[in-house]
Amino acid sequence: MNYKKVHLKPKKEESLLRFHPWVFSGAIQSIEGDPEEGELVEVYGVHKQFLAVGHYQIGSIAVRILSFEPAVIDDAFWKHRIEVAYTLRRALGLAGAENNNTFRLIHGEGDNLPGLIVDVYASTAVVQAHSVGMHYAREQVAQAIQAVMGDEIRNIYYKSEATLPYKANLGSEDGYLIGGHADETAMENGLSFHVDWLKGQKTGFFIDQRENRSLLEQYSKGRDVLNMFCYTGGFSFYAMRGEANRVHSVDSSAKAIAMTNKNVELNFPGDSRHQAFAEDAFKFLDKIDNQYDLIILDPPAFAKHKNVLRNALQGYRKLNAIAFEKIKPGGILFTFSCSQVVTKENFRLAVFSAAAQSGRNVRILHQLTQPADHPVNIYHPEGEYLKGLVLYVE
Ligand code: SAH
Repeated sequence: MNYKKVHLKPKKEESLLRFHPWVFSGAIQSIEGDPEEGELVEVYGVHKQFLAVGHYQIGSIAVRILSFEPAVIDDAFWKHRIEVAYTLRRALGLAGAENNNTFRLIHGEGDNLPGLIVDVYASTAVVQAHSVGMHYAREQVAQAIQAVMGDEIRNIYYKSEATLPYKANLGSEDGYLIGGHADETAMENGLSFHVDWLKGQKTGFFIDQRENRSLLEQYSKGRDVLNMFCYTGGFSFYAMRGEANRVHSVDSSAKAIAMTNKNVELNFPGDSRHQAFAEDAFKFLDKIDNQYDLIILDPPAFAKHKNVLRNALQGYRKLNAIAFEKIKPGGILFTFSCSQVVTKENFRLAVFSAAAQSGRNVRILHQLTQPADHPVNIYHPEGEYLKGLVLYVE
């Protein structure tokens, strides 16, 4: 294929030989043919040896690799990659299941498609591009999803206004690539929920907490639950099915709280155990006394870049310290960080400091991460982003 060529500096081929899927701009010696941002390029080492094919982009990550073998990135390529991903989700029992139609079909580097996210909600797939190359490939991606999943998918919504690089000035607009009039109710482990991909956060729902929500269900019986940063109430309806005594859901977004109420109503109509509050987490925590014995802390990413890591760790420490201070004796805390730049060790240390500050006896019951439909490419350990601890607080 006649793709334009990117030549690396000496020794800079090493990470590609270990299948790491990014080429940083500093590794590039020269570029032949002046590729446009988002164009496919081939990457070569100093001895003119072929290394990989990928999407070119202006910025710190200059090439996102699609193939480490010479390949034509055509319809058959997209179909094959999506087929591999879909086969995995079927093998996991997530796709084609009777009690579940919500799963992540494509998890970027974890599915060898850097820059692309696809989440499935019932018969709708939400496609999100994080790179210019994936933006240009969106129609091909949609066709490939349809070809692989057939009738299972009737609508494909493209949602990338907030995730594409602003400087690329693509003027991208969110909208349906296929279909349109979608039913906005989906199912996860037998629980139903409304999902708003048009105006909701991310692709509309946080699928990555599915297994952690299931675990919470097992701990809920008879407990007074506080679901902090509840978004559309995911953990809350699992707690209710797990026979919690009462469940309070808190989020600063009034829209998220309205949706939480709708979702609880969908699963447990008229159930008075649940109450939702549109309020800032710190303000809410400040006011409460020791009334909860199961608390979930699932805040938004406190650090989006390495240079704010210190502040983020302070934030995690502060938030967890309040929970340790306020949770009832014998209480259980589910605490999370979804910041990619915060390592497992960083997070554990922040929670450890918070525990020490409270002086309480704390034990780690479970160490949690993202589920199997958010796989981590072994050559791209950065893909492991979700960290959680389940703690027993005496
Ligand atoms: N636990 C959720 C996902 C949480 S996402 C689930 O399972 O679906 C993080 C949430 O934190 C978002 O809904 C966001 O609106 C909310 N949030 C952000 N800052 C907040 C604050 N200061 N106080 C309360 N909620 C906040």
